Amino acid sequence: MIRRLTDRIWIVEGGKNGRYPYAHSLYIADGGGCLVDAGSDPAEIERLRTSSGIAAVVMTHYHEDHFTFLSRVPDAPVWCSAADAPALESLETLLAWYGMVGTEWNAFFRKLLTEKFHFKPRTIGRTIADGEELRFGKTRAVAVVAPGHTPGHLCLHFPDDGILFLGDYDLTEFGPWYGDLAGDMDAFRRSALRLAGFAAERFVVSHEGPVHRGPIAGRMNAYLAVIDRREEALREYVREPRTRAEIIARRLIYGPGRDGPWFDYGEWALLSKHLDAMLARGEAALRDGAYVLAR
Ligand SMILES: [Zn+2]
Repeated sequence: MIRRLTDRIWIVEGGKNGRYPYAHSLYIADGGGCLVDAGSDPAEIERLRTSSGIAAVVMTHYHEDHFTFLSRVPDAPVWCSAADAPALESLETLLAWYGMVGTEWNAFFRKLLTEKFHFKPRTIGRTIADGEELRFGKTRAVAVVAPGHTPGHLCLHFPDDGILFLGDYDLTEFGPWYGDLAGDMDAFRRSALRLAGFAAERFVVSHEGPVHRGPIAGRMNAYLAVIDRREEALREYVREPRTRAEIIARRLIYGPGRDGPWFDYGEWALLSKHLDAMLARGEAALRDGAYVLAR
């Protein structure tokens, strides 16, 4: 379904209200048509391609739930930030940046990304830098590169329309994702606070209810507080020595009933960031293959 924010800036709503494996797209109905992310709705994307046109696809970042239907627009040039480009250009880089290399999840994710999410390497036609102005006909967007979720996650600010597309700084109850090998928890916080400071009327996100009326500082702080709650739960759990396998199996992040390699990966991807930070601060130690709170 298409939801018009303005005459020329539309949301293409993703399946399941944009819950994973879907993500809402933005469509700029100006200057030949520009699709922002391609993980929303294949039928709507096809309609846009054949009726209004898709002259370019801007990717906010390289995650699979944002590129699922990118292969349906094979002829459109793909743009993204310079930092994220290598992972859209190569499956090996994508797997490496997810942190899959040398793990038990590598084969599972290789199959998932290619078969379910139809990954095909795309040469990035234009790399977009922070602060760069993009023109789509009369519509003006300013790029905001927000590292943390990925190294070069790209948000788009439409200053003349009072709209900021936040992408995966998504204000969901689940909380932030910074679990990629190339992701960064502290950078995520800094980017999220910077984004919340924009004077926009409407903030659009990739997942769940797409439109948040500003100001969003309170909501962003609540969203970031999930990071602290995760660390608190982890700290409690490693009061006794716990191995990697035990930490994964405990499902501190996703909760019980979420089985299988996808959730195994997700647990470890996020919690290992916290463990690394705790080790670096001397708050935890790794002894005989087990993590334990330092006293
Ligand atoms: Zn993402």
